[in-house]
Amino acid sequence: MIVIMNYRATDEEIDAVVKRLEKNEFKIHLSRGVERTIIGAVGDKTRLGDSALEAMPGVEKVVPVLQPYKLVNRLFHPDATVVKVGSLEIGGGGVQVMAGPCAVENREQLLTAARQVKEAGATILRGGAFKPRTSPYAFQGLEEEGLKILAEARAETGLYIVTEVMDAGTLPLVAEYADILQIGARNMQNFFLLREVAKVNKPVLLKRSSAATIEEWLMAAEYLMAGGNYNVILCERGIRSFETYTRNTLDLSAVPVAKHLSHLPVVVDPSHGIGKWRFVAPMAMAALAAGADGLLVEVHPNPAEALCDGPQSLTPENFTLMMAELKKLAAVMGRSM
Ligand code: PEP
Ligand code: MN
Repeated sequence: MIVIMNYRATDEEIDAVVKRLEKNEFKIHLSRGVERTIIGAVGDKTRLGDSALEAMPGVEKVVPVLQPYKLVNRLFHPDATVVKVGSLEIGGGGVQVMAGPCAVENREQLLTAARQVKEAGATILRGGAFKPRTSPYAFQGLEEEGLKILAEARAETGLYIVTEVMDAGTLPLVAEYADILQIGARNMQNFFLLREVAKVNKPVLLKRSSAATIEEWLMAAEYLMAGGNYNVILCERGIRSFETYTRNTLDLSAVPVAKHLSHLPVVVDPSHGIGKWRFVAPMAMAALAAGADGLLVEVHPNPAEALCDGPQSLTPENFTLMMAELKKLAAVMGRSM
């Protein structure tokens, strides 16, 4: 349930409500806004007498949460969450573009890509060092060497780094280098990994599984928040449908829906969403128009030579053209980019 305190509620009144809930074994998540304090409470409601809380001084309203996700719920946090990554804000009305190759392949490839995406206006560099590949014979990533190359690119360009963490064992290593921890589509419901990532004090980019409903995706985010990590960015990256021409079906309807149900920022990955470079720019434009807070785009200095996801990777030239179009659209929408 969510306890909305009166805007004049005193600290003592807030404390009294919190103590009462804690005494009844509720888990408390306090959100102190400028205007008023909201207390998210997860626990067994039958332990409290009927409408007992509503009668306490300072309480304005008690709202039961019917959806299974609570901390992720807009009801709990009516204002949109802004996730800070260094000096950047994701979800604050601006548009952040994360771009780079699918995988870090070697130093030259990654540094070249980093310079190119930075020049075109990206603020965050993507690149996998640990890759979740369908085939065990495919390139699996450079692992720690890849992370070191990403750190070198950050030092040179000032771009922040988003990179995937695949398991709890390598989490401390990846967290040492990453500015944003990416949880891939295949791991969205790896609840053990979610619980571990929740303990790390770093923003998380949570990709939607290709087979997850929006509710399942939000429940995965709930694991992160319930474990103490409130810096969650949702990422729509396409779902499986009966269509075979495209790699996935990019579910742009998930953008306004997730933003309606939740306060978390939502970014869109049109590259995996459609799987063919030719259609990445139009889908990126559509994502921005649908209200996305940012984009995750695969860019490779030479897609034809890419070890991973070449067919969906933009050339630096096409990425630059796309960024110019996105900037025009952002301006029309009154959003900074
Ligand atoms: C990726 O970003 O390269 C990736 C593997 O994405 P997803 O988990 O969405 O398939
Ligand atoms: Mn990829």
